[in-house]
Amino acid sequence: MFRTNTCGELRLSHAGQEVTLSGWVQAGRDFGGLTFVDLRDRYGITQVVFDSDDDAALAERAGKLGREWVVQVKGQVRERTNKNPNRPTGDVEVLARELTVLNKSKVPPFTIEDATDGGDDLRMRYRYLDLRRGPLQQNIIFRSRLALAVRAYLGGEGFVEVETPNLIKSTPEGARDFVVPSRLNEGQFYALPQSPQTFKQLLMVAGYDRYFQIVKCFRDEDLRADRQPEFTQIDCEMAFVTQEDVLTTFEGLTRHLFQEVKNVELGEFPRMQYDEALRRYGSDKPDLRFGMELNDLTALGQGKGFQVFDVAELIVGICVPGGADLSRKQLDGLTDWVKRPQIGAKGLIYVKCNEDGSFKSSVDKFFDQAALAGWASVCGAKAGDLLFFISGEAEKSRDQLGRLRLHVAEMREMIPAGVFKPLWVVDFPLLEWDEESQRFHAMHHPFTSPKREEVDRMLTGDHETMKSLRADAYDLVINGAEIGGGSVRIYDRGLQEKNFQLLGFTPEEAEAQFGFLMGAFEYGAPPHAGIAFGFDRLCAVMNGQSSIRDFIAFPKNNQGRDVMIDAPAPIDAGQLRELALRVTVDRDGAKR
Ligand code: ASP
Repeated sequence: MFRTNTCGELRLSHAGQEVTLSGWVQAGRDFGGLTFVDLRDRYGITQVVFDSDDDAALAERAGKLGREWVVQVKGQVRERTNKNPNRPTGDVEVLARELTVLNKSKVPPFTIEDATDGGDDLRMRYRYLDLRRGPLQQNIIFRSRLALAVRAYLGGEGFVEVETPNLIKSTPEGARDFVVPSRLNEGQFYALPQSPQTFKQLLMVAGYDRYFQIVKCFRDEDLRADRQPEFTQIDCEMAFVTQEDVLTTFEGLTRHLFQEVKNVELGEFPRMQYDEALRRYGSDKPDLRFGMELNDLTALGQGKGFQVFDVAELIVGICVPGGADLSRKQLDGLTDWVKRPQIGAKGLIYVKCNEDGSFKSSVDKFFDQAALAGWASVCGAKAGDLLFFISGEAEKSRDQLGRLRLHVAEMREMIPAGVFKPLWVVDFPLLEWDEESQRFHAMHHPFTSPKREEVDRMLTGDHETMKSLRADAYDLVINGAEIGGGSVRIYDRGLQEKNFQLLGFTPEEAEAQFGFLMGAFEYGAPPHAGIAFGFDRLCAVMNGQSSIRDFIAFPKNNQGRDVMIDAPAPIDAGQLRELALRVTVDRDGAKR
């Protein structure tokens, strides 16, 4: 028997018992006659003591143990004289009688402790060592508990878990596909699913009524901290439901998960229309943990000879509570921040609301005190506050100020910790016009239904009408992070064909790519709707973290590489030949 107990288990009540523990040596301390070894496993750390008065040879061997060696210890549990209140096992230690080295370890490239000295790259290369550390283990175990809770809840609600294939044909979720060459079908490729979208709709046609799957999705996109080329969704679809039914069901799931896994009782799940979210927060995923809403100052700001404002489509402002204390240097810093290419604003106008009731602005030349007072009143500013304004094209200005809002909130620590603010954003546009390519894109995906009252306009309207169509599409946002999104689906062949046509597909292209789905719509497709939650992101948000990487056991780095197994990697000539592929890029990246 390798062990009688885990390293996280022993308490005062075990004192006097003979136990066997197995685990990793976290640290050793030699105090003359006494050698202390902290023994670690997934469950905790237990102090083991070797006393040279009892067994000098044993104590000497213990003194030679290295970090991360795997050992087995037999001995007796006893009360500690100097207890460690920070450890659940801190009241006891094991007085060792026997020591077996199960395996040695090289000196690890970084310390395997809660706070490590290892840099990102090194830790990714030795992910199995990083995963040994407490914080990461807690994350991965949290993820597992969350997945189990999802299954239990949805199972209880009558959802059927169905696996859908990974080797498929492109599903358009708006990203690039990862493709897999087919050996048996020369020159042909599978695509890895960006989501199981079409399959889950087919399951509704097939009468499964309620489907779910915790499923890997693959999208070949440029990476950011909160994106991975392969990620996991809680993917769901329901038949004979309205948008309302979906929102209620998944509010239920979300509440249950927070309650069950975090012991947090969530408050209201308010709803906000997409347009309103943009107007009030400059974002379709507003963070409601703090205020600083956007205000429209266009009417007030124009006609006073300030050219920048006069030519703007929109002037928007926010009020930073207590922000009048920002220094000149900080204001310049924020101006530079909004001018960075990632934000793209041309400039930042500010107004300080001084304690004495006067105003000081960066545009004093054009606006008198009365005008500035007018702005302050529209923005609800008090003495001691600060106003920021951005102007220009409406959509861009809102987005830029929306980002500044988040940045300032973080900078000024306005975001309360441990608070969760959910929000349903509803009534997304059906289509999005892309100036550059001069075509429409589906805002959610091409299977999303326009609102029922919009169908006629969609079937008969002109180009401008199409821009204003609203869809039964919704996102769940928590603390400014998009947790999930979904829609009511089209289930009528004619309407689906019309949507593809608007998206620039010829009838032949639509048939070639999605004929199977439109064909299925002709065999008794029920009205249906669904949603998918980003599982990795849900894990991160529930733990107040922004990076999903720490909740994925083996993630890719920013270049989409797994540096531990060194993938992607070239394949050998024979394999290429078998797949009828020719590589036209040399290893150094030069095209041949
Ligand atoms: N397939 C969609 C997505 O991946 C979710 C849905 O519409 O159910 O975002």
